[in-house]
Amino acid sequence: MHLETEVEAFRSYCNDARRRGKRLGLVPTMGALHRGHLSLVDTARRAGAECIALSIFVNPTQFAAHEDLDRYPRDLDSDLRQCESSGVDLVFAPDAAQMYPKEVSASVRVDGVSLPLEGKFRPEHFQGVATVLTQFFCITGPCVAVFGRKDYQQWRVVESLVQALHLPVDIRSSPIVRASDGLALSSRNRFLSESERSKANALYKALEWANVAWSKGERSAKVLTEGVVSHLHPLDHVDYAEIADPQNLHTQRGVLESSPVVLIAGRVGKTRLIDNHVLGEQLP
Ligand code: AMP
Repeated sequence: MHLETEVEAFRSYCNDARRRGKRLGLVPTMGALHRGHLSLVDTARRAGAECIALSIFVNPTQFAAHEDLDRYPRDLDSDLRQCESSGVDLVFAPDAAQMYPKEVSASVRVDGVSLPLEGKFRPEHFQGVATVLTQFFCITGPCVAVFGRKDYQQWRVVESLVQALHLPVDIRSSPIVRASDGLALSSRNRFLSESERSKANALYKALEWANVAWSKGERSAKVLTEGVVSHLHPLDHVDYAEIADPQNLHTQRGVLESSPVVLIAGRVGKTRLIDNHVLGEQLP
């Protein structure tokens, strides 16, 4: 496995791989890797990637000033070990100065799907995400890039980005990997104390309730939303709990005709958690 920290060295490694006829796969992450991240590597492989680059970059432009950029977990040694044993070919771990040279600046904004939900609570977030991913796509030149459905809205934003800018990359999504109690794996879970962790389980319980209600025939967006909210009382704060169209993420009202996605964001102590589920799909 190869590690690069410089943009130009990484670009030239990717160029070489492409020249050798390898289909490049890109898995962008912020590090503090867990099984969820590694499942994206498998998805990239199944999508035909023959050389897999995984980026580790805690991107400052997607954090607002009051958010947890400084506190975000970083553990490069453990990340490299996990990448090595998962068959990653190339790790790209640049620092902020590499990605954002002082002398120049530009950013990419995606309209539409980036505006509701996370977009309301983290107004600068998706602009930072879209900008850094455009940079990664340009540097890497991947055939395929893989995103977890854990960050459901981010996945939809990336699809819009690629479509709107005609970027030559195939975007694939990968299912949410959960702990045995149902909690979606997240780098931020390591901040949860034992009691916070059991409160955090409310997210999964709420999604599970909605999925059962849906399977029994409940089609009222209001009933489903209220039921989900009522399961979230253990959280210290709920940012949103919405029933939305799975494609454009518009809030759904009235009687649902097709499977919506339930999206939740909330806080336990200082830790912000997000989760989602498309009703009717199997929950582990
Ligand atoms: P992050 O490092 O949190 O920015 O996540 C990097 C990528 O891993 C994103 O595409 C996430 O959606 C994905 N990811 C994170 N956690 C999970 C999980 N539990 N299951 C599936 N994908 C995940």
